[in-house]
Amino acid sequence: MPLDLSRSQALFAASQEVIPGGVNSPVRAFRAVGGTPPFIERGAGCRIYDVDGNAYIDYCLSWGPLILGHCHPEVVAALQETLSRGTSFGAPTELELRMAQKVIDCLPSVEVVRMVNSGTEATMSAIRLARAYTRRSKVIKFIGCYHGHHDSMLVRAGSGATDLGVPDSPGVPAAAAAGTISIRYNDLEGVEAAFREYGSDIAAVIVEPVAANMGLVLPQPGFLEGLRRVTREHGALLIFDEVLTGWRVAYGGAQAHFGIDPDLTTFGKVIGGGLPVGAYGGKREIMSMVAPSGPVYQAGTLSGNPLAMTAGLTTLEVLGRPGNFERIVALTERLVAGLNQVLERLDLPYRAASIGTLFGLFFTTERVVDYETALTADTGLFSRYHHAMLRRGIYLAPSQFEVGFMSLAHTEAEVDATVAAAEEALREALG
Ligand code: PMP
Repeated sequence: MPLDLSRSQALFAASQEVIPGGVNSPVRAFRAVGGTPPFIERGAGCRIYDVDGNAYIDYCLSWGPLILGHCHPEVVAALQETLSRGTSFGAPTELELRMAQKVIDCLPSVEVVRMVNSGTEATMSAIRLARAYTRRSKVIKFIGCYHGHHDSMLVRAGSGATDLGVPDSPGVPAAAAAGTISIRYNDLEGVEAAFREYGSDIAAVIVEPVAANMGLVLPQPGFLEGLRRVTREHGALLIFDEVLTGWRVAYGGAQAHFGIDPDLTTFGKVIGGGLPVGAYGGKREIMSMVAPSGPVYQAGTLSGNPLAMTAGLTTLEVLGRPGNFERIVALTERLVAGLNQVLERLDLPYRAASIGTLFGLFFTTERVVDYETALTADTGLFSRYHHAMLRRGIYLAPSQFEVGFMSLAHTEAEVDATVAAAEEALREALG
């Protein structure tokens, strides 16, 4: 049965007249899977509701932040309380102190932390700081890892183990991209080779400790440890971009899961509880270079604003209660086990995987270890699967190269319904 999206279609058409592509962030436009994106009216628990009256079990959760689900009662109550006292002061507040203390309590590698307004700001600022601290200019990133849309990170550099940067987007000056060295994810030898060639110029290696912007790609054993070792040997900083993995791969983040001690870490998503947020933090010696305690300039009118701090703090507090994080992990594992049973039953050679509260499913028989192998996935099959799931009331991120997110608001019943829907959807998608 086709989904009635007539009101969403009308709103999408009108939006396309006044907003680029009809959306305020490109992936929302459903380009990868085709069709009209449902326009969402409200969310409650693990569900979202569109303007056409369709309900969906939500595995996108605003791309990760809503780890407690939509409108968690404690988050809503705390926000209402904060709201009644004002939305922003541009002056210090106790909430910011509590947030900083919370982040530091959760992550041994972080001694000092600065709040910003997005993940993009966090990585942009961390890279500026790393360059200032090391007095070097080049940065290593990994192909297929996303660190936001500032100039030096909009580089993927195509194939080859070590290519010097070429911008991915018009408008990025070649000079801004030239300092970025792109290497295949999990290619420690490529990193070592880059350090041999440019070592004294490399300020930092920035990495998603679990890659989650090309589908879910796990670090191979020794990869993160190798990055830690090589950066130390060459006097470069190791930046973990935990905007997505923070409080998702483990309570704290991937660094807690893998036991790695990065110099700097960037945050976003979950620590804002669904409000705009980002943060970067790390060793005191490095962070003390940030203005006004040091010369590295970085500022923000709305940084650390009371609403985002309240939503984030409440989210981390609820998530940290005994059993809550483990419950979300268990639900994620239940979903993946169910999906894998379905795939086996249908005699399909694909497997779902998870780490913490993140899950992924690549439609490829290749072992996915980097961007190149991720690209072998059958995107046509994914698009048909995605729409077949949507018709059954399951909302997945609209691209094969995104991950799935679980929340505390999901239950076994919804997870099992999702597995049942996936079986039907796969049969339909295979035709
Ligand atoms: N880093 C990572 C790992 C991300 O996943 C994202 C966003 N998905 C960003 C940075 C950028 O964050 P934002 O969209 O808040 O700017």
